[in-house]
Amino acid sequence: MPHEVEVDLGIMDPDYVNIVFNGHEPWVGVATILAARDPQVQAQAREAGARGVRVTGSIESGQEVLQRFAIDEVFRGLTGNWLTIEPLLATGTVDVFAMDENCSPPWLAPYAEKYGVTLVCVYDLVRMPGVEKHLDYKPTEVAGQARELIRLGIENFKERHSRIMPRVPRRMQKAIAGFSTEAVLKALGGRLDSLVDVLKAGKIKGVVGLVNCTTISTGLHDYMTVGLARELNRRNILIVSGGCGNHALEVAGLASLEAAEQAWEGLREICWSLNIPPVLSFGTCTDTGRISMLVTAVANHLGEDTSALPVAVTAPQYLEQKATIDGLFALAFGLYTHLSPTPPVTGGPDLVKLLTEDLEGITGKKVALGDDPVQAANGIEEHINKKRAALGI
Ligand code: SF4
Repeated sequence: MPHEVEVDLGIMDPDYVNIVFNGHEPWVGVATILAARDPQVQAQAREAGARGVRVTGSIESGQEVLQRFAIDEVFRGLTGNWLTIEPLLATGTVDVFAMDENCSPPWLAPYAEKYGVTLVCVYDLVRMPGVEKHLDYKPTEVAGQARELIRLGIENFKERHSRIMPRVPRRMQKAIAGFSTEAVLKALGGRLDSLVDVLKAGKIKGVVGLVNCTTISTGLHDYMTVGLARELNRRNILIVSGGCGNHALEVAGLASLEAAEQAWEGLREICWSLNIPPVLSFGTCTDTGRISMLVTAVANHLGEDTSALPVAVTAPQYLEQKATIDGLFALAFGLYTHLSPTPPVTGGPDLVKLLTEDLEGITGKKVALGDDPVQAANGIEEHINKKRAALGI
């Protein structure tokens, strides 16, 4: 269920043994949180001179846990998206950086040496130069693997704490995480009718699924994601977000209750009355399927095709191949789909024609491109207005 969490690099405290888990799966992180709740484990950390052991999430592994766990003395929250990994290591506060599945930059060894970090691969798909510690996740052994990560962390702390001068940005941001399909509907009054009513009244003009990575190929870190989300909120458009774009919006403060102040009056009124932010933090980049369940539920309720709804999808700073697949899925689903940067398919004229022209006659929608947040918002709003007019609302 939705709950308040803390994000950004300011959550790191150099006086603790800090275990950070990174990747796409929550299993090792959750096992480490459970292991670190053992008072004996905390006592071992204090004997080494630390104030205790803390476990912190990075990118999707962290977001998976953030959606389901409250923060407490052991679980500290989420540091940010994948472009935050190197700045995180450079804070000089990380004792173990445990990497699963994908989206760990391949050349972290120099950071480990300079900032006193023990890098550990916890998934057999992750192997990188200069990283020799492998504790590949095994479901039946994960409790022991978690204790080994904590042991490595305590050993690392003794050396790191005396050698490395920490540099931790002060900024810490509150966000509301945990908006599953069921939680979104509950927050909107518990019935699909409630969502339909606020859409009909125009208080929420439409809904956009923002599922994203982050990249600096078209501008600054998270510039497009945050700029587009602000523009949409200012036009009474509610956002349901997943992936590194979701982490960006959490860190930027748009997934907080205070962000309602920046939304336009209809959406602001809904946020205040229901106690929800204008950006609903839904999960990770692999949660697109779950977002589509929400869209399907609304379409079925109205007796309409998904392509008829005032709904759109954007991946405004995508990077990874999964985002391209998510985009194609949204197109097949009949949803207006904005992508930035332009996918590397322009060498295939037939494919370009299919995506940007012909697809509209097949599934109901085609790709929209563009690297400017205001123009992208204009296109999305125009689409939503057309769908509203066709539905007579
Ligand atoms: S959103 Fe993209 S960059 Fe971020 S973790 Fe997922 S695949 Fe990796």
